[in-house]
Order: sequence, then C-alpha cells, then structure tokens
Amino acid sequence: MIVRKLSVMMLTSMVMAVTMVVAVTLWTAGQNNRTAAEDSQKMVAGGLEGRMDRLASLNSDYASWAAAFNAARARDVEWLTENMGAGANGKEFHVLQIVLPDDWSSLTWTETAIEAGTAPLNNAVVPVEVVRSFLPKLNMYKRDVKDTQTAYLELDGETHAIAVSRIQPWGQTTDVPVEEFPLMVFALRVNDAFLSRIADKFLIDDIYVKPDDEGSGARLPLTGPDGTVVSHLHWTPPRPGDLLIKTVSVPIAIGLAVFLLLTGKVAWLARKNAKLLVASEAEALRVARKDAITCLPNRLALNERFAELRKCGGTISTLIVDLNGFKGINDSFGHDVGDRFIKVFAEYIGLSLPEDAFAARLGGDEFVVVFRGQTSEDQCIKFCNALKRRTKHPLNVDGFMFEITYALGYSSGDVKDLRSTELLRRADVAMYHAKKHKVQKPVRYDPTLEHDKREEERTIIALQEALETCEEFNVVYQPIIDAKTGELELAEALVRWNSPTMGNVSPAYFIPIAERTSLIFDLGRFVIDRVFSDMTRLDALKTSINLSPAQLRNSKVIEEIRERAAFYGINPSRVTFEITETTFMEDEYLVSFIMDGLREAGFQIALDDFGTGYSSIGYLRKMHFDKLKVDKSFIDDIGVTETGENLLTSLRFLSRALGLEIVAEGVETEEQLGLLQQLSYDMVQGYLLSKPIPAEDLATLLSEKADWAGIVQAQKAA
Ligand code: C2E
Ligand code: CA
Ligand code: CA
Repeated sequence: MIVRKLSVMMLTSMVMAVTMVVAVTLWTAGQNNRTAAEDSQKMVAGGLEGRMDRLASLNSDYASWAAAFNAARARDVEWLTENMGAGANGKEFHVLQIVLPDDWSSLTWTETAIEAGTAPLNNAVVPVEVVRSFLPKLNMYKRDVKDTQTAYLELDGETHAIAVSRIQPWGQTTDVPVEEFPLMVFALRVNDAFLSRIADKFLIDDIYVKPDDEGSGARLPLTGPDGTVVSHLHWTPPRPGDLLIKTVSVPIAIGLAVFLLLTGKVAWLARKNAKLLVASEAEALRVARKDAITCLPNRLALNERFAELRKCGGTISTLIVDLNGFKGINDSFGHDVGDRFIKVFAEYIGLSLPEDAFAARLGGDEFVVVFRGQTSEDQCIKFCNALKRRTKHPLNVDGFMFEITYALGYSSGDVKDLRSTELLRRADVAMYHAKKHKVQKPVRYDPTLEHDKREEERTIIALQEALETCEEFNVVYQPIIDAKTGELELAEALVRWNSPTMGNVSPAYFIPIAERTSLIFDLGRFVIDRVFSDMTRLDALKTSINLSPAQLRNSKVIEEIRERAAFYGINPSRVTFEITETTFMEDEYLVSFIMDGLREAGFQIALDDFGTGYSSIGYLRKMHFDKLKVDKSFIDDIGVTETGENLLTSLRFLSRALGLEIVAEGVETEEQLGLLQQLSYDMVQGYLLSKPIPAEDLATLLSEKADWAGIVQAQKAA
C-alpha cells in the first residue's frame, strides 16, 4: 500500500515538475512574444510618425518662406524649380506640388519629370480636391504659425505620405488674405526605402504596405485626409519567445532528461527502499511479536491480544503452564538441548490448542494460554487434558530422555472487570500453588491460594532480618554411620531456623527461597562459620556441609572457605562438601575449577541427592568426587519395587568402578538397612540411626563413643 502510494506520489511529482517547466517556458515565451508585438506596434507607429514628422517639418520649412510665397504667387517657375522643385528627387519626397488658390491650378515637380527635364508639370499629381480638403484645418491656424497637415494617400496604386502647408510670407507683411495663400504639397512614396528605415531601426525583418488588413502579423492602418483607411502597414513583429524556446529548448530538454533520469532513479531507489522498508517493517513487527525459539507469540503479542479482548469484553480464562526442572535441563545439558526441549513442548501446546485460543511464551519455561467465551473454563480443562496426553511419554532430545512435568494454574473472569495483569497474576498464584504442592492437575485460582505467595514474601523479609544477627539460626548434625561397623563416620550439618514470627521453618522451604534471593551467601557463611566453630570443640568430629549451587557460582568461595578453616584451625581433611548434581553441571568449567580448588586444599567432595538430577557417567568421571550420596527416593523403593533394588545394586557397582564411597540417605527401616548392607553400601544416614541433633548432643555421643553397632550388627545377622 505504502509502496504504491509512494510510486504514485513520485510519478505525479515528476509529471508535475516536467509539466511545470514546459508550461513556464511556453508561458514565458508567449509573454515575450506578446510584449515584443506590443512593443513593435508602438515602435512602428512611432517610427512612422517620425517619418511623417520629418516630411511635415521639411514641408513646413519650404512653405514658411517669403521668397517662395512671392515666387509661387508670381508663378516664377525658374526660381521655384531651382529653389524648391529640385528637392523632389526621391531623397526626401517624390512629389512637390504647388496649388494656387486663384484658379486652383497646380505646378508639379516629380522625380521622373525632373529627370526627363519636363518639370514642372502643369497638372496635379495629388488631386486638387484632396489638397483643398485640408483647407479647413489649415485655415484654423493664423498667419506665421506652422500649419502643416499630413495624411496617407493612394496615388497611382502606391501609398504615399502627404504633407500640406500654406506657403507663407514669413516675416513679411502682405495684404493677401490667408485663403489666397498658395498651398504646397509633398508626397513621399511609402516604399521599401521608406520602410527599411523603420525596419532597420526596430529590427523588423519584413514590413510592407497592403490595402487590406489580412495577415497573421502586426499591422497598422494608414489613414487618408478624411480619416478613412487608405491601406495597411504589415510586418512580422519579432518573436523573442520563439527564440527563447529555440535557445532554451535543448538545454531544458537535456535538463529535463537528466532530471527525469535522476528523479526516475531516485524514485526507483525510493520505491525499492520503501519496499524493503515495508518488508523489513512488517518483518520487524512480526519478529517483535514472536518468540525466537518456539515461534509462539511473545509477551508483547499477548498484551496486544489482551487489549483486543478487553475491547470485546466477555469472559476469558488465563492459564499458566510452567515447566518443572527446566532450569536443570538447561544447566545440565546446555542451552541447545534446553532450547530444543522447550521447542517441542511449545509444539505440544500448539497441537493441543483449541481453535479460538491463544498461546504465548512468556520467557523461560512459562507459557500462557488464553481461552475466551462462556465455555472458556471447559476449553481450558480440555486443553490441559490434551496436553497431558501428548506429554505422558518422556521426550527424546539428542538421545537424552526427559520426563515432561509442569504446573498448571488458571483464573477466569470478565476482561472488563479485571485487568489482564490481574488475571495473569491470579493464574500465577494458582500455578505457584500447583508447583509447590506438586499438584498434577490444573489448579483454579482461589483467594485462599494467595497465602502461598504472601508467605514467600513474608519469608524473604523475615530471612533478611534474621541474617542481620544470625541469632535465629542454628546448625544440627545428622550422623552418617559406617554400614559395616556402625561407627560414626561423619555428621551432615543441617541448618535450622527458628523464627519468632514463623516458628521452626524447614530448610527444604527456606533454602530454595534463600537461593532465589541470593540470601544464601550470608546463610552459607553463617553455616560454615558455625560448623567450623563447633568442630573446634568436637575435635573428633568430621562433618559434611551442604553447598548450594549459587555458592559454587562464586570463584571466591575457595579462598573464603580456606580462610575460615585456617581461622578456626580446622584440618580440611575433616570436611566434606556436598553439592548436588545440578550444581556441578551448571557452569562445568567454573564448578570443576572450584571443586578442584577445594580438593587441592584438602577438602572432600560428595555428590548429593544422586539419581534425582541428570548426571551422566561422563560427568562422574570428569568431576572428581570422593563420595556418592544416593537419594532417599531410591531407598524408599526398597521392598516396594524390584527396579528400586536393582537400581541400588547398579549404583553400588558404579561407585565401585569410579572408586567412590557410597552413602545411602534417608534410611528409615531395618529392612532398608539390611539390604544396603547386603549390597555393601559404605555408609548409611537416616532416621533409623539418628535424626539431626544439636552439636552438644553429638558431643555426648562422641564422648560416650556411642555407636550404632547394635543396629548394624542386628541387621547383618538377620
Ligand atoms: P539434604 O542435603 O538431602 O539433607 C538431607 C535431608 O534429609 C535433611 O532434611 C534431613 O533431615 C533429611 N533426612 C535425613 N534422614 C532422613 C530420613 O530417614 N527420613 C526423612 N524423611 N528425612 C531424612 P532437612 O534438614 O530438612 O534439609 C533439607 C534440605 O535442605 C537438605 O537436603 C539440603 O538440601 C538443604 N539444607 C539443609 N541445610 C543446609 C545448609 O546448611 N546449606 C544448604 N545449602 N542446604 C541445606
Ligand atoms: Ca545433603
Ligand atoms: Ca541429600
């Protein structure tokens, strides 16, 4: 559309520009021609008048002469011929005629008669009645006043300029009445010689006399004594406009051609650019609304969708789908695998989507689906079921199998009453509840769910406050026992928080919050300090300390720990650090650097919660661990499924092969202990043996050399 508009605009302006240049040139030329014609009309008229004036003044000069007066009255032909008639040689006039009023006879000198020696003729060339017709005008003048009259006259088929005066006895007294004064006539042929003077003066090419006024050029009427038109002067007035066109047309044509070429080029470029611009703008608009990885609409597109829905009004349901453990996949397998995983999941969402619904990726592992209309909630449930069916099988990405689990939360309402942000927030609260309580089904928003979110916010504030003094925190120790001898090998340090406002808060609850808010750094420092300080009193105690993934993202941690150990005088060989699988794969290079640093300093490293993450054997070989802690979920399977036991066997072989000690966590029953002993597990830890206990209690246990030989031996024997 914009390209067409631009093209039409460019073309129109080009045509307009060319038309304007041509029109202005033509108009200017026409104007020049008109002005020149008007000017030449004035000039020719002026020139003609000048010629006539000249004739008239010559005639007047001849006539205002007393000697001439006397000679004419005396018909002194000799004097008249010598002094006046000889002038009729065609230079100034062609005919000189004296008309005598007493008998209205004429004496006439003509060019031809002079040449032939027959002058003066006794007849009139200029008809006497014509000469007499001037009398009323001539007699209007007094004596001794120049009275010459002029007119044009047709004589012998030729136009002549005529001048008539009374011959006056200038300066001499006389009794003769003016009516009886002789009259003197000059006739000058309006011929080429006459006209060329005008033509030359005013740069006119052709000028001629013709009786009629027909013709395309300029003309001027030549009038007789009675005012009737005798003939016409015709000429072609100069046309400087034509010359202008002639001279400028080539440069203008060249200029226009160049202009057209340039504007054409510019127009073409502009059109091309506009096309590109339109295309790239459309592309940019499209891209700006699309999530790069999944090609689903993004947050911007979602907001626009909400705005549209708001205009229409009505019920909508907003569903949030949040993947579980996606961060782990990214951390453990890299972003390529994570991206492919999220892409397939997005495809599943797209395939499960009802026609009228709208799905968007909000970033990370969070998706939003919007359903509209009265049935929006039904549609939402149906969508969740369809998605469940599609995701029930593990997903194969690059040869890795991933379970697809996610939390679903939704909220419904009228878009006119509730802002989209509120609907989203509510769906988020519901999703958060589903995630926290591991609810598989979609959770509908309910105001009572707000509690969870508020609870977390309250926890963050309480944690921040508690970390200022650390007085609310304590560390307890859970013994880890040699599975064969029952001797206390070491004790795992576990943090406890007794909040005055929130009571005893489980680390399983607040540790993840502390990790999300970076409060884990201060908390981690407190634990290490407390454990090292306890160890100075319990010098036989070996400990196992949990390090969270966030702590291992900071390379200064090695220096910090070494410094604290040195400060308390703790031999690093007494300390094991437990890290989870997700940690050591997050930034492989950095984490392995930190692990090596800690091991070099003499500390040991245990892989915690083994089996819950995504570790591969490759990683186990690359990263140098000392112990493997098998997650409680495997132990729970003992006596329940055969696979559980087989897995425990395999893990035992694996640890052997890798030269690692193997620890079983969460041992609660004697049956479990018995099997672990059978499988030659090195160490056991669990409520069956001891719950986590305060340092003082552990001190008593240590000083009494209490051991778990009884339990251990009993199981062995059984
Ligand atoms: P974890 O590292 O796997 O610690 C073992 C958890 O299992 C402890 O829970 C322990 O009390 C519990 N446990 C041990 N034996 C049994 C048993 O037989 N049955 C059952 N049901 N549970 C058993 P706790 O103390 O609640 O700690 C939970 C998690 O919090 C820990 O899991 C660890 O990930 C984290 N945590 C605790 N203290 C710290 C700490 O100082 N630093 C860090 N970073 N994380 C900590
Ligand atoms: Ca642990
Ligand atoms: Ca554990």
